[in-house]
Amino acid sequence: MTFDLTPEQDQLRDAVRALGRRYGHRYFVEKAKAGEHTTELWAEAGRLGYLGVNIPTEYGGGGGGITELAIVCEELAAAGCPLLLLVVSPAIAATVLNRHGTEEQRKRHLPGLADGSQKIVFAITEPEAGSNFHRLGTVARRDGEGWLLSGRKCYISGVDEAAHVLVVARTEDAGTGKLKPALFLVPTDAAGLTRSKLDMEIVSPENQFLLYLDDVRLPADALVGESLDAGLPALFAGLNPERITVAAMGAGTGRYAIERASEYTATRTVWGGRSIGSHQGVSHPLAHAAVQVELARLMIQKAATLYDAGRDLEAGVAGNMAKYAAGEAAALAVDTAVQALGGAGMTTEYGVATLLGAVRAGRIAPVSREMILNFVAQHVLGQDKSY
Ligand SMILES: Cc1cc2nc3c(=O)[nH]c(=O)nc-3n(C[C@H](O)[C@H](O)[C@H](O)COP(=O)(O)OP(=O)(O)OC[C@H]3O[C@@H](n4cnc5c(N)ncnc54)[C@H](O)[C@@H]3O)c2cc1C
Repeated sequence: MTFDLTPEQDQLRDAVRALGRRYGHRYFVEKAKAGEHTTELWAEAGRLGYLGVNIPTEYGGGGGGITELAIVCEELAAAGCPLLLLVVSPAIAATVLNRHGTEEQRKRHLPGLADGSQKIVFAITEPEAGSNFHRLGTVARRDGEGWLLSGRKCYISGVDEAAHVLVVARTEDAGTGKLKPALFLVPTDAAGLTRSKLDMEIVSPENQFLLYLDDVRLPADALVGESLDAGLPALFAGLNPERITVAAMGAGTGRYAIERASEYTATRTVWGGRSIGSHQGVSHPLAHAAVQVELARLMIQKAATLYDAGRDLEAGVAGNMAKYAAGEAAALAVDTAVQALGGAGMTTEYGVATLLGAVRAGRIAPVSREMILNFVAQHVLGQDKSY
């Protein structure tokens, strides 16, 4: 067992950290408050190869794994730039297409995902189904050689920045008559696809949308994979990378908040000459949060290592645990940092309260803490399913 990154991974971490710090949290917040996107950061990260670290070299990527992508997610977040679309586009969409797309789909989409010139977002959540994906109501019907898609999706991130949205729909299985999932690449300007932006209480340059699919007509090759049988494995393929990278983003955000708070409390004095950080009522909560973040990072490393070794089932357990741990640790770290900074903690200038909404959402999305606890209770502890 080793806890060391390879020299290449170390270099990647240092380089991404340097890029993130050049932009920093102020840039992130200014973009968010102006209703703009972090276009410059995304483009530069793409040019430098950081967005495609997990994509095979033959499609223009770095040939690494989720370990490398998690490093990118964590370090940008640790610099105050938690980019949610890293989780959606390179982690979910690129993995799904690489593992289950047709060769034509890989050739058409992976190079653009690798250099950041193309984004593909992901739409599974629906208003009526919520956490219960068995209730998905978006349906794909045969239309000659192609497909007609109808349904509604909610909270879909980044639709305004993406060329395509990877939509999870259901098709009728000719053999059993049952509905089974299938993934479709839907151009965001397709006729019949409309969107409306949701007002979210999160300071973020990335937006969430309601999507309406009203008989969206698609060609045959919009279906991900060679046949309908690719649907279920393709859907599952995205889950581990999603959980691991979102956990990495949470851990990075936690590190960022603790660093901001520690700098402040080490120098702020209000009682004589002693720093407020010398009071254990201030330093212990920060130290406790630092322990939680570090524990989450260990679990992320384990999950990414298992995933990259092709041990998907074990990675599923570790990835869920990592996502849970990092979601809780990030929320704790940001809240603790705000408290340690006192009034300054609530200002935009000190850049910690600006993350409260994002870390709160990290306990709900992309999979809620309760659904992870259900998963662990059933699959690790052998308990009956309650729902
Ligand atoms: C910022 C943000 C970005 C998002 N981006 C995307 C995206 O890009 N694409 C996408 O498809 N979706 C996205 N989502 C949606 C997200 O994945 C869902 O919000 C999440 O899966 C929870 O579903 P829900 O909101 O319908 O909650 P519900 O399913 O309605 O659940 C509500 C509450 O009940 C709890 N609950 C439900 N069932 C159980 C149970 N059986 N046992 C115990 N507790 C239960 C949940 O944990 C939750 O706390 C995003 C959400 C947010 C907040």
